[in-house]
This record gives sequence, C-alpha cells and structure tokens, in this order.
Amino acid sequence: MKINVLTLFPDMFTPLQTSMLGRGLEDGKWDLNLINFRDFTTDFHHHVDDTPYGGGAGMVLQIMPIQKALDSLKNKGRVIITAPQGKTFTQQTAQSWSKEETLTFICGHYEGFDERIYQLADEVVSIGDYVLTGGELPTMSMIDATVRLLPGILGNAASPVDESFAQGLLEYPQYTRPEEFNGMKVPSVLTSGNHQKIDRWRRKEALRATYLRRPDMLANYQLNKEETTMLAEIKEEETN
Ligand code: SAM
Repeated sequence: MKINVLTLFPDMFTPLQTSMLGRGLEDGKWDLNLINFRDFTTDFHHHVDDTPYGGGAGMVLQIMPIQKALDSLKNKGRVIITAPQGKTFTQQTAQSWSKEETLTFICGHYEGFDERIYQLADEVVSIGDYVLTGGELPTMSMIDATVRLLPGILGNAASPVDESFAQGLLEYPQYTRPEEFNGMKVPSVLTSGNHQKIDRWRRKEALRATYLRRPDMLANYQLNKEETTMLAEIKEEETN
C-alpha cells in the first residue's frame, strides 16, 4: 500500500517510522510519501493561508497549493480530508481502507480549509467529536489503524481478528505471568489447558466487557443462540 500525506508539518510523522509500522516500512510492506504543500505555493512568501472572507478569527488554508500538490501525484488513490465535521473513523473504515492500493490524506491546520477543498475529496473523516490543532495526529492514528491490518505487519503471532471492534464486540480480558499478583489470580480456566473451555470463556468475557463498557455496541450486534444464553448468564451474574 502507498500512502501520500499532504501536510505543512512532515516532521511530525516520525512515530509511524518506529515499532511494527516502521519495520513494515523498511521491509517495503507499505510506503509513506510526505508532501509539504507549502512547496506548491507561487508567491514570494510561500503563503498557504489567508484571512476569511466575511471577517473573523484565524486563518484559512487556501485551495490552490493543495490542489497543485494533489495534481503532482501520479496516483492519488482514495483522497481523504481530515476534518472534525467529517464522518467518524471506525475499525470498519480501517478494514475497508486496508484493501486500497493507494490512500492520500490531506491535513488541515489553523482554522481549517477553504470550503471548496471538499470537492477534491472522496471522503471527509473525523477521529471524534473534539477539535485538534491540525490533521497530523488524526492522520497518523488512521494510518496506524489501517496499516497494521496489512498482511505481515503484526507478524505471525498477533492477529487483529479477535481485537476490539473487529467483530462488533470488545476483546476478552488477557493475562500473563505471574499467575497471582497481590492476591489477584488469573482465572483458573486459562491455566486448565482445556481449549474448548478457554474458547467459550473468551467469547463470554468479550460479551461481558461489551455489555458492561459499551452496551451501545450490543444494539448493533447479532447474537447467535449460544451468545444469547451467555448474555442471559452475564446479566444474572452482574445483578448478583
Ligand atoms: N475550524 C474548524 C472547525 O471548527 O470545524 C476546526 C479546524 S482545526 C483547528 C484544524 C485542522 O485540524 C482541521 O482542518 C483538520 O484537518 C484537523 N482536525 C482537527 N480536529 C480533527 C478531528 N477531530 N478529526 C479530524 N481532523 C481534525
């Protein structure tokens, strides 16, 4: 996968070049192309922003350098504009984008973009109902969530299949050594060696975590027969 990022702050993107994503970059499993759209200005002072028509606080990003930076790309693929007013990014968005060959993100700054920029986008996406200073952190979060789903990025041991949101539920609780810490014991089923029981326990605890922490997710989740029984058990256990 190739990812282009149009930004005024390419230096901010070093976190994507470390850990598993960094190894994936080195191994050529994905490619990151950072483009400073200030390089596409034509005026002497390289302005990328201007005051808003109608007055008001702050500066607005002009469309011209961004359009020119986009035009310079041989293959733009899916063009994504970051904006708090966009559709909320979810795990499903990451799953869908991970199947694309090329993605291009446009990061805003200051008071945001000239409204006419939105005609250049395939999607306008937000990472949540709050306002950040720029589109760089949202873009890095979305790239991380997407690229880690590519084959070979997480390595053989880790799998994103059981993770929170992948199947409409939160993930089950995980434990590692020691078996007991300050009187808190690891659930005995996990050390029983009985894989059928472990599997049932995990499915039930994923359901419990979702029921307790994110009941809103259960409204959109289709329970099968066994899960319906499990949820009834959980409700009884949690009221006792
Ligand atoms: N004036 C804009 C508004 O009220 O909607 C906010 C502009 S914000 C300060 C500057 C830039 O940060 C935006 O153009 C966008 O690229 C990025 N940004 C801020 N919050 C974001 C969020 N929740 N999701 C995605 N991008 C965001």
